[in-house]
Amino acid sequence: MARPETPKPIRGTQDLFGESARRHHAVVEAFERVRRLYGFQQVQIPIFEATAVFARSIGETTDVVSKEMYTFEDRGGDSLTLRPEFTAGLCRAYLTEGWQQFAPLKLATHGPVFRYERPQKGRYRQFHQIDAEVIGAAEPAADVELLVLADQLLKELGIADGVTLQLNTLGDSETRDAWRQALVAHFEGHRGDLSEDSQTRLDKNPLRILDSKDPRDRPIADAAPGIDDHMSSEAGAFFEAVTKGLDAAGVAWTRNARLVRGLDYYRHTAFEFVTDRLGAQGTVLGGGRYDGLIETLGGPHTPAVGWAAGIERLGMLLEEPAAEAIEAVMVPMGEAAEAVALGLVAKLRRSGVATDMAFKGNMKKRMAKASASGATYALILGDNELSEGKIIVRNLVEGQQATASIESIGSMPLSLLWQIPTGSASSTGAQYIAEILKGGPGAA
Ligand code: ATP
Ligand code: MG
Repeated sequence: MARPETPKPIRGTQDLFGESARRHHAVVEAFERVRRLYGFQQVQIPIFEATAVFARSIGETTDVVSKEMYTFEDRGGDSLTLRPEFTAGLCRAYLTEGWQQFAPLKLATHGPVFRYERPQKGRYRQFHQIDAEVIGAAEPAADVELLVLADQLLKELGIADGVTLQLNTLGDSETRDAWRQALVAHFEGHRGDLSEDSQTRLDKNPLRILDSKDPRDRPIADAAPGIDDHMSSEAGAFFEAVTKGLDAAGVAWTRNARLVRGLDYYRHTAFEFVTDRLGAQGTVLGGGRYDGLIETLGGPHTPAVGWAAGIERLGMLLEEPAAEAIEAVMVPMGEAAEAVALGLVAKLRRSGVATDMAFKGNMKKRMAKASASGATYALILGDNELSEGKIIVRNLVEGQQATASIESIGSMPLSLLWQIPTGSASSTGAQYIAEILKGGPGAA
């Protein structure tokens, strides 16, 4: 019978294994550590929501909603969407779960998000984000806290040096409206030279032209008027409070007056942490204040601010994380020894020692596995040792060994056992193993 064809992985998805899995884990682990230092609660929300959650809060005219969402009808005929980001779902939960009573609420979450994009380095269709939000706080102190958190995370990951915080303000509604008019006037003057996408944006959402990656748009966007000439005094004071807070906390930032965020709901603070080490996918973390979002979901006016970062992009910037090493490998030889070894391995693991067991092949193969595992200790148990109630503790790093009693395994640290002088111990087992390791008579 012909073998069936193996199904292919979905384009733009990843199977994380080995180094890529370790990079991913290192990012999440650092985020978990840092968010606790800042008092952000860990939450989990569904991977899919009613399509309206994203369509309404992110905005119909954004790339995410108009081109990138995985939307489908379920068997009951409801329109569902795989989350393209966390913020909208968190705000939905804030309203439907009664989390308002805890405001201001500091939340942290991480997991997969989905966007239908053209896959390339640093850009996937299923990728992963870490996300931090403060919901129900209008004060610039919340913006500052989130930015300092992000900065500390990058420092703990050891990647802060190549990454710059670019900061902007989108002002309040008054400021934004005035700026928008100035932008429309500017872009209308160059309409014919804009990309097709940006010509559409000009009618629907002109601010987003500033965000365009199309080379035809860049010079026009770069020459566009900045927001500062239109800033209301309230909006200016808010921005100043944020920048003063960052300075007080020792967080470096630069002003990027052209920075707008892809999503519609931003007000006041907008920011990105960018690097030139990832080619076109240079934004590793982005966010801002979204005071209007919760109202679009039918909730009361609720100021909020947050950010999200791509775990893959952060992971690519890391020094390669060390492989996880096991501390000890049990190497039993013979049926009786294997049975005892199972018990010893369980005892070691319960006592907190990361332990593996080599149970395949001859002695030489098993010792080779022990060495390759990166373990510090091989615990060698043959019939000879067993009959004497002993076990060989070999320090693979030092290349030396000692004999210990079987009962001591899992009852005291292996480092102590290895150091106990064993003048009285039988050396037959030890000699045997030493010969094997040299490729001597017992090696076959
Ligand atoms: P970009 O401009 O690169 O498309 P974005 O503005 O769409 O990014 P956000 O919506 O702000 O991205 O998402 C926050 C972070 O998620 C980004 O800074 C980036 O690190 C990561 N990210 C976004 N889209 C992808 C993707 N398709 N694959 C991998 N990571 C992504
Ligand atoms: Mg995008």
